[in-house]
Amino acid sequence: MPHADGATSLERGELSRADLIRDKAYVGGQWIASDDGAMIDVDDPFTGKVIGQSPSLSEAQARAAIDAAEKAFPGWAQELTRKRGAILRRWFDLVMAHQEDLARLITLENGKPLKEARAEVAYGAGFIEFYAEEAGRMFGEIIPAPVSGRRLMVEPEPVGVCAAITPWNFPLAMLTRKAAPALAAGCTMVAKPASQTPLSAYALAMLAEEAGVPPGVLNVITGKASMIGGLLTSSPVVRKISFTGSTEIGAQLMKASAPQIKRLSLELGGNAPLLIFDDADLETAVETALVAKFRNSGQSCIAANRIYAQKGIYEAFLEVFAKRVSALALGDGFNEATDIGPLIDSAGVAKVEEHLDDAVAGGASILSGGKSSGGQLMPPTLLRDVAPDALLTREETFGPLAAVIPFDTVGEGVKLANDTPFGLAAYLCSDNPATISRVGRAIESGMVGINTGLISTAVVPFGGVKMSGLGREGSSHGLAEYVNLKYLCQAGL
Ligand code: NAP
Repeated sequence: MPHADGATSLERGELSRADLIRDKAYVGGQWIASDDGAMIDVDDPFTGKVIGQSPSLSEAQARAAIDAAEKAFPGWAQELTRKRGAILRRWFDLVMAHQEDLARLITLENGKPLKEARAEVAYGAGFIEFYAEEAGRMFGEIIPAPVSGRRLMVEPEPVGVCAAITPWNFPLAMLTRKAAPALAAGCTMVAKPASQTPLSAYALAMLAEEAGVPPGVLNVITGKASMIGGLLTSSPVVRKISFTGSTEIGAQLMKASAPQIKRLSLELGGNAPLLIFDDADLETAVETALVAKFRNSGQSCIAANRIYAQKGIYEAFLEVFAKRVSALALGDGFNEATDIGPLIDSAGVAKVEEHLDDAVAGGASILSGGKSSGGQLMPPTLLRDVAPDALLTREETFGPLAAVIPFDTVGEGVKLANDTPFGLAAYLCSDNPATISRVGRAIESGMVGINTGLISTAVVPFGGVKMSGLGREGSSHGLAEYVNLKYLCQAGL
């Protein structure tokens, strides 16, 4: 709704640039509808209403995306790194110029509170900015030769055509975390966003087009996941797949990629522990638990799924934490006051309630919240005296259910934290340098937050160990995932 002074006050779900909501796929620089007109509905998790559609492409169309990426590869790979960096920089500028619209789009299709959606845009854009700069720093090496008359050289080369498969929980940032380093390295990409949240990915593609990313360098397609996954894993043209999602699908993609020895980056499920030691600062521990548990309504792979509090601080922590949890506002993500938005779908709600019921049956008591009162809104819930073998300690809850489990000694805490096949993120709160050092090293995870629940940024390596995956995203290590090292040995000098 335009105002006389030119400012706009938007209706719920409205964008100032309505053309950022696409209903076509982006292949070889063209916006295409599906061959047979088949579409996939996109729902608003708060209202349950259909707010958009994405095309369900045919196999031939998905194959055309791989062909387009193959055709674009030689030109993009040979482009000056400064030029690739400059195009990425323009893409970053455009994403930030449209931060509000992109945030509204994320809230519309994912449900997360607008303030978190704005933070996701800035976080996601951070990868484009970082890799715009890294593009010019893909240095080779000259290695001193152990014999005379030889020059030993190492040159970085782009891996080739890459594929990205992304989840719904961070629909914008999970794509930029893959596409930005791939494009910086000189790779081309076919990206498949989650069916529930394709709109952010298409808006990103539109801004990439406006930034000057050449046709075929970035392609975004939607359709039946098993068909697209099958094509990407079986195509000899696709040299690498970067996947973020469940461990189950990651394992399937790994198996299907094995015959061609395809390179893989797998960012999979987590089951993060948060250890709060007796010597922790109480306010820091509560703040850490709030952020690590309730960001994105608990639908984060690095969410603190299990909160272990040492017996000396247990009661004091629960008292303050309960007050803060009960003050969290549940509701429509478009309401600026909302802290906890709806979950992505009814299956998500059912899973949280299953974990809640199981914990209560095992002896836990509810200090705040409880079951959903309908729709996809799940109240922020706090449980005390949760049994160490409750279902929620073994599976990702992926919702706003905080489970606090008491423990005795530092050694027992570490043992509980490591008692999982997953190892993505972990958190610990302590003011004792010896505890921090000992526990930080003993925890089996790819990332450890010490006295903070906010750990992810473009400049650090994000990734897991054990069944949480392979490879790293972000930082110079994230660029290395899209680079092959060629060793050249020149004799006769
Ligand atoms: P998911 O079911 O594995 O889906 C993720 C993506 O894989 C979606 O694009 C999905 O497409 C696609 N997919 C599904 N079946 C496929 C197949 N057979 N072949 C190829 N692609 C296929 O995961 P999710 O439930 O959406 O996401 C939540 C999971 O992601 C959690 O476990 C979470 O921990 C993990 N995650 C990990 C990280 C990390 O960095 N480690 C970050 C975020 C989330 P459709 O949507 O079309 O089905």
